[in-house]
This record gives sequence, C-alpha cells and structure tokens, in this order.
Amino acid sequence: MAYLTLKNINKIYPNGFHAVHNFNLEIEKGEFVVFVGPSGCGKSTTLRMIAGLEDISNGEFLINGKRANEMGPREREIAMVFQSYALYPQMTVFDNIAFGLTLQGVDEDIIEERVKNIAGILGLTDYLDRLPRALSGGQRQRVAIGRAIIRKVGVFLMDEPLSNLDAKQRVTMRYEIAQIHQNTGATTIYVTHDQTEAMTLADRIVVMKDGYVQQVGTPYQLYFEPQNVFVAGFIGEPPMNFLRGTVKNGALRFGDNLIDLKKKLPSVDKYEDKEIVFGFRPEGIQLGRCENAYEITANVELTEMLGDNTNVYITAGSDHAILKVDSHDTPETDAVITFSIPFESVYLFDGETETVINCK
Ligand code: ATP
Repeated sequence: MAYLTLKNINKIYPNGFHAVHNFNLEIEKGEFVVFVGPSGCGKSTTLRMIAGLEDISNGEFLINGKRANEMGPREREIAMVFQSYALYPQMTVFDNIAFGLTLQGVDEDIIEERVKNIAGILGLTDYLDRLPRALSGGQRQRVAIGRAIIRKVGVFLMDEPLSNLDAKQRVTMRYEIAQIHQNTGATTIYVTHDQTEAMTLADRIVVMKDGYVQQVGTPYQLYFEPQNVFVAGFIGEPPMNFLRGTVKNGALRFGDNLIDLKKKLPSVDKYEDKEIVFGFRPEGIQLGRCENAYEITANVELTEMLGDNTNVYITAGSDHAILKVDSHDTPETDAVITFSIPFESVYLFDGETETVINCK
C-alpha cells in the first residue's frame, strides 16, 4: 500500500479559479518526490492541500490507506519548510530547533539529545547559542529544516526552500538536503520551479502546467522519455530544440535540409499534410557525419563558451537551434557546419496534441 495517495484531487478557490485538476499520485514511504513547473502551475496549492493548510475541493487524500481530507495539519504528522524560514528572531538556534518539542512538553533531556543530534546532521553544532540574525542565509535555512525534522513526522514538505539563497549556497544546500534525506529516510515532497533541483534531488518528479500533471517519472524517464512537448522543453538545459512543420512527401524541411521522417517513423504516411514537431536536444548531436542520423547543414550565428562545452547558435533558413559541443570543437562564428542528429536522439510529437509519437 502506498504511504500517501492522492486520488483525483482538485482545488477550486472560493473565487472560482480551478487551480489543480484531477491530480493522481501514489507516494511510497521514504520516497523523495519533487513537484516542478512554472510559476502558477499549482505546485504550492497541491502541497498545501497535502499539509492540511488548504481544503481539498474534491478527490481523496489518504495517509497509509486512511482518508485524511478532514484531518487537521497536526493530526497528519506532516512537517513543512517554507520559502521564508520564519525563525523566531529572539530565540537561539537551539530554541528554534527545539520549539516543536518544547510545545509538546517533551522532557528536557530528550529535547537536548534530539537537538544536538539534528544540529550534528545539519552542521549547526557550533551555532546553537546564536540568534538567527547572526547566521548566513544557508545556515538559517538549515535551522528551519532542523525545526521541521525534529518532530518525528511521517512526511516532510518543502516549498521552494532554497529560493532565498544565492546560486552557490543553493548548490551546497541541495547537496545537504539530499544527505539529510539519506540520513533520515523521511518521505519528502519538495516544490521547486528549478529543473536542476528537481533532477538532482528527486526519486520521482511530477511535472505540472496550468494545474494539470503533465508527467510523473524518474529523472531518467523525464529526460529520455518525455511524453509531450512541454515536458521535453522543460527538462534539459539549454532546452530541447523544436522544429515545427507540415509533413510533405513524408519529410520536413530544416532550412535547406530535407528530413526524411520515414527513417525515424515508418508509419509517417498517416501524418501527411499534418503538423509534426521534430525535437532534438542540443547535446544529442554530433559534429560532422555519422551513421543512422539526419545530416544537417547550418550557419553558425554565435557561440557561448561555458567551460568544458560551448553552446552553438545555428540557423538554417528561418529555423534556429542550439547545439552543445565540446569546447575543443567550437566552430567559428559565420562558419557553415554539418552536424548529425542520430535517429535515436530524435523525438517526434503530434503537432496538434503535442504528445509524443511512438516511432516503433
Ligand atoms: P509559484 O511557483 O509562483 O509559487 P505555484 O505553482 O506554486 O506557483 P500556486 O501558488 O499553487 O502556484 O497557484 C496556482 C494558481 O492558483 C495560480 O494561478 C494562483 O494565482 C492561484 N491561486 C493561489 N492562491 C489562490 C487563492 N487564494 N485564490 C485564488 N487563486 C489562487
């Protein structure tokens, strides 16, 4: 039995806005699940319904198989870390972390032992006597996490916990959150709009858009088997290149290049005169020629050296794309280059529904 079950969950706010549509998900004990999607897609609303901070308009939420829609936040045994850490400024780090247990009237010796243990996990041992104002952003965020995990709860919810940190701190904290999860094994649901955070932290990712779940899968599945144009474009940096066109004689045009779709899609005939989206990742190409690949000739407009690799902006006729190449192979600006897209690196989507076409 799944630990958390969301069955056809909907949220309609009092003003009539339908923020979450038929959300279905089963979460196993110990899993790290990330909700990701652009601003306003319903991530926080879903998390808040799980926390019991927002009513579920319809659908059912189960904890360990038991209906939890009507349970209050405390009864659900769920702890939450928000974007703003909301620490108590007049309390020391120790007291901030201990707060939940102090409220419950837990024995002082036990509190001390638990706080010290958690401070050890979070690297806060030397800061227990400090006030929050004497901490860095990353340290404050760790205190907020400590305060949440000290209560032995079943589920740990985090809503964009790293968004107030700078880029470097975010990378460090991301690593620490992954370690905390490894050490505690707590079931975690984490909300972010950052695909890198989602890819690096998650056992499974839920991609959302406009209140609808687009795809649920492991980071590997979302990257290699995206189910629609939105997911394909959302996961991966730089994003997947898309070439949209009408199929004529089984082919699409990419500038002056003719792409014979039959090589990728034997049943291409049924798409004749219909729109297809041809997708390939910037890193899914090879410079020069190779076997079992589409060969494309294009002009280099601009290159961006990023260290070990370089983004190459190309045009072919009125079509544009980005290629990611080894920096040692960076072509000259204005050069005409040939590159190959192996058939296996090509994704085809139905132009009307934007869902992936099974090419087998
Ligand atoms: P962000 O990344 O910006 O936090 P999100 O994906 O978490 O976005 P939500 O906060 O869940 O998005 O909001 C989903 C949609 O519901 C948004 O369009 C938002 O404007 C709307 N919304 C949120 N709260 C309310 C409310 N109390 N009443 C009406 N609409 C709301």
